[in-house]
This record gives sequence, C-alpha cells and structure tokens, in this order.
Amino acid sequence: MSRYEDFYRRSTDQPEAFWAEQARLIDWHQAPTQILDASRPPFYRWYVGGQTNLCHNAIDRHLAERADQPALIAISTETGSERSYSFRELHAEVQRTAAVLLELGVQRGDRVLIYMPMVAEAAFAMLACARIGAIHCVVFGGFASGSLASRIEDAEPKVVVSADAGSRGGKVVPYKPLLDEAIRLSRHKPSAVLLHDRGLAPMELTAGRDHLASAASQKHAQAVVPCTWLDATDISYTIYTSGTTGKPKGVQRDVGGYAVALAASMKHIFDGRAGETYFSTSDIGWVVGHSYIVYGPLIAGMATIMYEGLPTQGMDRQPDGGIWWHLVEKYKVTVMFSAPTAVRVLKKQDPALLKKYDLSSLRALFLAGEPLDEPTARWISDGLGVPIIDNYWQTESGWPIITLPGGVEGRPAKFGSPGIAMYGYKVKIVHETTGEELTAPNEKGVVVIEGPTPPGFMQTVWRDDERFVNTYWKSIPGKLVYSTFDWGIRDEDGYYYILGRTDDVINVAGHRLGTREIEEAISGHANVAEVAVVGVADALKGQVAMAFVVPKTGNAATDSAEALKLEGEIMKRVADDLGALARPARVRFVPGLPKTRSGKLLRRAIQAVCEQRDPGDLTTLDDPATLQAVRAAVAAG
Ligand code: AMP
Repeated sequence: MSRYEDFYRRSTDQPEAFWAEQARLIDWHQAPTQILDASRPPFYRWYVGGQTNLCHNAIDRHLAERADQPALIAISTETGSERSYSFRELHAEVQRTAAVLLELGVQRGDRVLIYMPMVAEAAFAMLACARIGAIHCVVFGGFASGSLASRIEDAEPKVVVSADAGSRGGKVVPYKPLLDEAIRLSRHKPSAVLLHDRGLAPMELTAGRDHLASAASQKHAQAVVPCTWLDATDISYTIYTSGTTGKPKGVQRDVGGYAVALAASMKHIFDGRAGETYFSTSDIGWVVGHSYIVYGPLIAGMATIMYEGLPTQGMDRQPDGGIWWHLVEKYKVTVMFSAPTAVRVLKKQDPALLKKYDLSSLRALFLAGEPLDEPTARWISDGLGVPIIDNYWQTESGWPIITLPGGVEGRPAKFGSPGIAMYGYKVKIVHETTGEELTAPNEKGVVVIEGPTPPGFMQTVWRDDERFVNTYWKSIPGKLVYSTFDWGIRDEDGYYYILGRTDDVINVAGHRLGTREIEEAISGHANVAEVAVVGVADALKGQVAMAFVVPKTGNAATDSAEALKLEGEIMKRVADDLGALARPARVRFVPGLPKTRSGKLLRRAIQAVCEQRDPGDLTTLDDPATLQAVRAAVAAG
C-alpha cells in the first residue's frame, strides 16, 4: 500500500483517530472531549467540547515566533498601492476593528455582513469577527443591490462593513449607492454601517447609521481585545452560493473543524510552510478567498497576498501581463492558487512574460473552480516548469475534495482529472435514478460523498436544516448521501474526471451562478413574458449565460433594432440587480420556448443547439417550431 493509500484508509476507516491526530495542528483553549458526534446524520459535529478561535490560530499563536515576519501583503494595481503587515501589525489592526465592532454593539453570534473590495481592511474585518465570535457573511463586491438585499435579508446582520468603492481595470465601481439601495430593498435593516473611505467615490452618509471607519478605529488605536474562546461547533461564517432555486443558500461552517481542515490541507495538499509567501488570486467574496487567502495561509504561519486588480495591469496602471510573475519574484511566492479562466486570459499575452522573472521560489500552482482544459494546463505547465495541480471542490466543502496530496506523497497528474479522493472524503459515483453505486471504471454517474463528511464541511444551510437535508442529502433515491450535483467518472487508477453539473447551475469564469436567479432578474422586465437561461461553452470563461426571451409585445423576435434596444434594457436590468458578472452574453428573442408536453422547459436541448450539438431525444418536445426558432435565433448571431 502506498503512503497516501494508507493515509486515506486511516481517514475513512478510523476517522476519529485520524482527525484527533490532525487536531494537533492547531491550538486549543480546551481540548475536545469527543472527536466526532455522528449521532444525527447528516449533521456531523466535529471536536465536540473543544474550544478554540480561528483568529488566535491565524495570528496570535504566531506572535512568539514570527511577530515581525510579513503576514498580509495588500497589493492594488488599481490604486497603485502596496503594503505589508507583519503578524504584530495585523494583530493590532484586527484588535482595532474588533473594538469598533464591539462599540457598534456586535456580540457573539451576531452577523456582520462584509461587502468590500480586495483591500486589507476586508481581511481585518473577517478576522475581527472571528476574534469576537461574530459570524461573518462576506458578499462578493461584484454583486449588485438585488443580490446584496437578499443576502442582508437572510443573514440579518447587525452591522455591515463596506467601502466607498472598488475598482476594476481602472474603472471605479461605487459600492455605497448599491449598498444603500440594498438596505432600502431589504426588510431587515442593519443598525450600523461601517465605511472605509478610499477616496475613490463620494459617499453620502446616513446620520445615526453610517460611521467612517478611520475615525472609529483612531479612537481604538491601542485596543486590546482578547480572543473569545468559542465552541468548536459554533458558527464561524456563512457564505452564499447559488443553487437551482432563485434563493441563494447560506452555507454555514463551524469553528474548530474548519480550523483543523485548513491546517491539515495546508500541510498535506498545498505543502505551504511557515515563513513562506502564499498567493491566491481569488477574491474574499468566494470560498477560496475565505479558505486560501485569509484563514489557511495565516493558520500555516505564511504571509498571504491580497491582490486587487486585473492579471494584466501593472502597478503603474499600464498594461502588464507579467504582473503576477513580478509579484511571485518579488515576494518569493512558494505556493500559488488561481483559476483556469485567469490562465486563459494570460495565455493571450506574450509567452516570454513567463520567462522574464525569476520564478525559482515557486513550487506549485493550484487551479480550481472550473474544469481545467488540457491546452491551458499544458501552456502554463510548460511556461512555469512547476507542477500544475487541479483541485475540485465546492463552497460547501470548504477545502479540496479531489486533488493530489503533494504534502503526503507525490502522485503524477493526469490531464483532465483533478486527481484522487482526498483523505476524509468517501467519494462515490452513483447512478442518478437508481442510486446504485457504479464501481466499474469509467462509468458515468453523479459524484456523491458518503457521511461522515470531514471537518470543515458545511454544517447546514443557515437557518434551514430542512433545505440542507432535502437539497443535498436526499437527491439520490434510497440513500442518504451528499450530492455534489456534478457528473463524473473514476478511472482504473482512482482518478476522477468531472463532467459538468447535473443541475441548472452554470460556471462563468470559475464563478457559480444559478440560471434561475438570472431568469428571475430578466422576468422583472415589463416586456418579458417568458425566459430561459442556459450555460453555453466559452473558450475564455468556460461557460457564459445565454438568455432566450419571449417578449410580451412588439416585434423583437423579428425587428433587429427593437431587439437591440430590448436586449440592452434586459442586460442593464441583470447588471443592476445581480451584478455585471451575471449578465448574459446575449439575449435572443423567440416567439416561444421549447417545452415538453407537460410544460417543462427543455434547457438541455436549447443548450445543445447553442453549442452546435445534437439536442438528443426530442420525443417529449411539444412544438418542434419552438426549437427551430431557437436554432434560427442562434444562427442569426
Ligand atoms: P463553487 O461552489 O462556486 O466553488 O463551485 C463549485 C462547482 O464548480 C463544482 O460543483 C464544479 O461544478 C465546479 N468545479 C470546481 N472546481 C472544479 C474543478 N477543478 N474541475 C471541474 N469542475 C470544478
């Protein structure tokens, strides 16, 4: 048995012994009395009776050994700023923010919603919440008021932390008006809003509610706020993710299990070592940002880079496709984490840029969030000369489910496969309707995970245990297993291949979007009778959203000038409601949508037509003319 096989076996056969050992990777205020409580599946509780704190493990415990080493390096090619905070400085900043939150009335268990660009203050806010036991809920800065409002309403935050603006490609994106509108739309109103003024956009403050962060933290410049010892099973944060309904789900995570899972993954998967620098190009609004920008690297005692800007813009705000490699050289980055889309963007640049910098510090580049295509993997692998490691996981899991365990044992990568099942995950392939396990190699089925799910995995859906059980654990007939909602196969060597979603979730540039959410935003337009949104393959972004709309009145289906106007209005509506990220690539107008006789939308047939594939079995199609119209609309360009 290989070293990893033995490691994996122990994690599945003796989970308690295995995870008790991993628990030693973090500091505990009080050791757990029970490693796993599996008495109420699928609600698995890890490290029961234990007390710890994520912020303590990320910062305080490193002070004795590395107080003056860099902890957080905040770089913005949007504002041309670069600042490094040592563990000591980060400790002070986080205590200041914690003191401000306490003054605003935040108590243990209260929610703090963070709607921030990629600036150091966003990480201070997350760590400050962790420090005092407040539950943070970070919302991606690219989301607009509608998305933000539904999250405010669901999370019911006492305080919102935000900023005047973000910036993208030199274009200022004011956040404050979007936030004001979201609070107006939401039934829940936060009692206070803490605002960071970056001097990018004017802000109108609401008296009695809005507070400027600079003034507030000046008052607490010398603040000493000790870590609150939390139960391992307490809630650390919620993060919203899209599903098949229009309502996003609040993925809820614990404290102790998450801390151990991250510490273990930094060791066994990422092989990141204390004192080194880690660079993830993701955003704090996504799960990667939580796990592998903020908590994971800091728990491992590494410096973490927070990067605001495009991959193709230099510090002088001029085009520079080598900026990331410049940073790798400058900060001697050893482990880097990005997404295939970003690499595809870089691929369009001069390949010589990869050779211009000294990248000898780099040991590996991890890519996740969407399928990694072979040409992209080969291009970056040849260019960097380090292992490119694909990793497959989800907001729900918090850390990789399928990848290569570089820190335990080197395993060869196979192009097109993220790798093998990680320790703690009993990954299975099952038949989608019979639920039968498919054990023969290369049989296609749904990728599921058998309980107990490992530490770090979601505890439940925020305030909705029923939705957690029904959505994730009851979709496979006759079995209580967690469905990833991804199709997959496993080959004879145990390598998995992910073949796309089983539900109506699409993946645009590594970001997960629900087609239903986009459809709901489009339906809000007065002239939309019906709409279908599907994901269509795209060379750069992996997938893009494509909308087919049946207008209520007028001739948009035949009149191109009218179509253009209506398309513009619909696009704007989606951008204003959900954010530019969710905007469809095109809106096409048709007299009717392809449906079954019972009225079910035939999304897969529409998607196949868009991708110039055979739409497959059409025996249930009610009116063939509708699919013909979709074909004509696609052909018209
Ligand atoms: P998110 O929760 O936003 O991270 O999205 C998770 C989904 O992204 C998964 O269920 C997959 O559909 C897809 N995904 C993530 N990582 C990979 C990967 N390495 N290969 C293929 N698909 C991936």
